[in-house]
Amino acid sequence: MLSPTRKLLKSPSLSSQRSESGSQSNVDGFSILPISAISTYTPRNWAIKGRCSFIQPIRNYKGKDGNPGKCGSVDVMDESGSIRLTMFNQQVDTHYAKFIVGNAYIISKGNIKQGNKMFCKSDYEITATQDTIVQETAIDDSMPDRSQSFIQSLSHLSNHRLTGNPVDIIGIALKIEEPSTVNVKKDTQRSLTKRIITLCDDSMCEIDVTLWNERAEEFSGKEGDVICVENGKVGDYQGFRVISTGSQSQIDVNPTGLSRAEELKKWMSTLNVGRDAFSKIEGTAPKGEKGESRPVINVSAEQLLASDLGHDEKQSDFISFTGCITKYKRSSLWYLACPKTNCYKKLASPDEEQCSCGHNFLRDGPPKNRFILSLMISDSTGAFWVSCFNDVAEQLLQHNADEVAALVDENPNAIDDLFAPVLLKQFYFRIRARKQTSTINDEMRIQYTVSHMSPSNHVTRSKELLSIVKRYGYEV
Ligand SMILES: [Zn+2]
Repeated sequence: MLSPTRKLLKSPSLSSQRSESGSQSNVDGFSILPISAISTYTPRNWAIKGRCSFIQPIRNYKGKDGNPGKCGSVDVMDESGSIRLTMFNQQVDTHYAKFIVGNAYIISKGNIKQGNKMFCKSDYEITATQDTIVQETAIDDSMPDRSQSFIQSLSHLSNHRLTGNPVDIIGIALKIEEPSTVNVKKDTQRSLTKRIITLCDDSMCEIDVTLWNERAEEFSGKEGDVICVENGKVGDYQGFRVISTGSQSQIDVNPTGLSRAEELKKWMSTLNVGRDAFSKIEGTAPKGEKGESRPVINVSAEQLLASDLGHDEKQSDFISFTGCITKYKRSSLWYLACPKTNCYKKLASPDEEQCSCGHNFLRDGPPKNRFILSLMISDSTGAFWVSCFNDVAEQLLQHNADEVAALVDENPNAIDDLFAPVLLKQFYFRIRARKQTSTINDEMRIQYTVSHMSPSNHVTRSKELLSIVKRYGYEV
């Protein structure tokens, strides 16, 4: 699609001329401006020239007058930036079909308005009018390929200003989960299909991208494929950056004609590291009471215990901590739970026949054990107890709770053998701290829960510290 040899299409209204410098500056009285120069203050005779980087499917809607309407948009980019062109009704019929991703266009005339940051990646948006002219043109060397519309590398997603905004990202599929069903809260009849794919790139960062429904079911990418996600939304989950997709998003597997895709493939082919080499991207912690964003705080044990982190009953604090597991509780390491995804309710008695979520243990599958570990973690300054739930515990002990229950059943000391390889090894922990009522004595105490842990790696650790420095506005 991105053939550089495409012929220049001659237009009766817009024939292009090249200035001596080689850059096109004037077309039939229209000044070709860099896209970044387009704003609501731009004089009327503007024109832009750039490559189409994204085409949004046509949406149908019912207008205020009750008549049906339709709307379609495209993103056009040049070296300086990108801008969205939105077309309605008649303009959709006139212009929409002209656009092919990767091809170049000259666009002039149209209403310029501020871009809606919820949906639009660019600062300004052009709405096509009756007078709008869209003319396909030749691709010249000065035009970047679509790669430029993507976030430079996944590590750039740490920028807190991106929260809630749409972005285009490209990466290698590190892990692809099977689709799973989740119940919509308050509405047990309705369920959604969800699939998480984890992407990584040469910044050694990884990010989870959530796909929903048909897209989750039909996704055909494999681990190792290049995946690009256009118009994904940046969010945070458990203190880490995540990308969610919606109807406005587009997902491509092994896209062609993208220099960045080629670059990543080459990088991947020479890569010789394990899954642990990649680090999740620090997010912006949930907003505090005053609406301010709260960063993830890196603490020593001594700092943590002296601080008021986790003292608020209404909201959690997110902490990162590097240290070792020095002790573990040897009993009640798991509980019997409903096996249904996202239910996992504890069974009141092993004889229970049906869970309150509707799952019948005889008909739909037996209950399963799930971990709940209590670990003491320490650094050179002190120690504290943390809880570690199923997913993190499985990753730590390399066995699921049913397997461990069987092992311990045979030999009560088997648990020590499982912990032996991880004791006194340095780990990076992500911890949620929150004041909660203890289930044991009804007293309020701070509960520390591990949401993520990985072997401490000096490279990722340094990167994380640098990302924190950057968040405070310093260039590093
Ligand atoms: Zn259940």
